[in-house]
Amino acid sequence: MNCPYCGFQDSKVIDSREVNDGIRRRRQCLSCGSRFTTYERLQPASLFVIKKDERREEFNRDKLLTGIRKACEKRPLPIGIVEKLADDIETELYRLGKAEISTTIIGDMVMERLKSLDHIAYIRFASVYREFADITALKQEIDTLVGSEVSASLPTSQLPLLPDDKLRGLARSRRRGQKRGKH
Ligand SMILES: [Zn+2]
Repeated sequence: MNCPYCGFQDSKVIDSREVNDGIRRRRQCLSCGSRFTTYERLQPASLFVIKKDERREEFNRDKLLTGIRKACEKRPLPIGIVEKLADDIETELYRLGKAEISTTIIGDMVMERLKSLDHIAYIRFASVYREFADITALKQEIDTLVGSEVSASLPTSQLPLLPDDKLRGLARSRRRGQKRGKH
């Protein structure tokens, strides 16, 4: 492992500790003295992804991460949550113990998690992944989400799609609508 600061090829380990699924090593460059961190992880057996057009390619965590990151761009999410999401999915995929897995299953796993994390990110991801045929299909998906938020009486960690006051207004007008027997 070359020093990321000066490129020197030798470093000493000054600290090493086990993390979730690997070993984290704190290193110091023997030339410039800079400190950096390396991770050692077990390379799992190959997993192949079957795409919609039937082509196969080796599972690529970076690709998964890029897709999720794009959907979560500029959303007020905690630092590291996107990486954690990708890690969780990768772990689950390998736990399934299959040699091949379809992109549909991976996409569904991402959607399921984004749905409970952030609705905007969910809609963004779904619009790419599900390739909504038209604006009506997209609106239906959003309506379902808004409906589930209005009917949820308990406060959740979910970031609302609409500001609170708008949601309350929406809930009120719905109740009024029901009393009058129309929507
Ligand atoms: Zn160095």
